[in-house]
Order: sequence, then C-alpha cells, then structure tokens
Amino acid sequence: MTTESPSPRVAPDTCIFCAIANGQAPAEVVYEDAHTMAFMDINPATKGHVLVVPKRHSRDLFDVSEEDALHVTRTVLRVARAMEAALKPDGVNLMHATRRAAFQSVYHYHVHVIPRWWDDGITPLWRHAPGDPDELREVGARIREALTAYG
Ligand code: AMP
Ligand code: ZN
Repeated sequence: MTTESPSPRVAPDTCIFCAIANGQAPAEVVYEDAHTMAFMDINPATKGHVLVVPKRHSRDLFDVSEEDALHVTRTVLRVARAMEAALKPDGVNLMHATRRAAFQSVYHYHVHVIPRWWDDGITPLWRHAPGDPDELREVGARIREALTAYG
C-alpha cells in the first residue's frame, strides 16, 4: 500500500478549469450558469464527452462545498438529458475522480458525462464478483458509524 497525501493544492490562478470558467482559456462550452460551466473534454472517452465544473475552485470531493456539488449535479442532469436528445446514445456514464489513486488528473472538482454506445470499446472499471459477507457487514458498520458522526 502506498500512502498518498491529499491531491496537490492548485492555486486558482494557475488552474486550467478556473481559466476556462472565467473565460481566460479556450473551451468548447456547451452550457453556463452563475455557478457552473459544461464544456467538451479535449481527450474524449467517446464522441460527446462533457465535463461539468463549478466556477468556484475546489480540489475534489473532500473540498467542494455541498452547495457547489449540488449545482454541478443539476447541470450534469441537464447535460445528460440534452445529450440524450442530441446524440441518442445507448447509455450514459457519470464519472468522477478524487485523487490520483482514483485517476484524478485535474485538481478542480469536475464530473464527466460520457455518452456510451454498445461498440465504443470502453471496458468496465471492475468485475462483478460477490463480496465476503463478513467484510460487507464490517465495512458497512464503519461507514454507518462515520456517517452518524458526520451528522
Ligand atoms: P480527471 O482525469 O478525472 O481529473 O479528468 C480531467 C479531464 O480533463 C481529462 O479527461 C482531460 O482530458 C480533461 N482536460 C484537461 N485539460 C482540458 C482542457 N483544457 N479542456 C478540456 N478538457 C481538459
Ligand atoms: Zn480551479
């Protein structure tokens, strides 16, 4: 096991998604409101891959405010429904990465909206295999306890 410190703290003035959100860097923007922006990913997983970001800088799931996360979720819904109308995909994946271990590469909170087609060649992230019942119980209890403490 490697220990990893939290993601690098990127100053908003050097953050590429902040630059896009405030119009100082180019992007193919598909939607914008007071709190969020949605634009095309420059390395699309599939044709139509969109990123949704809060305009206010935050690093990841542990840093984003609940308010900004909710704004982003609302925009994700809008984008996914527009995608359904415009592209008629066979399916849609939502993807988010927090920290490098989970494949985060840009340290400004964002959600990927990825239209999917049967033949797009993307493989599943994990294999479905039954978990150990004792472990499910034990880890479930730990998360439940932490959630109770969280309030
Ligand atoms: P993640 O790896 O989950 O942090 O996702 C970051 C995503 O941002 C990647 O899919 C990149 O292709 C995408 N990306 C990086 N720079 C830009 C940019 N300037 N414009 C649009 N997408 C970008
Ligand atoms: Zn930023």
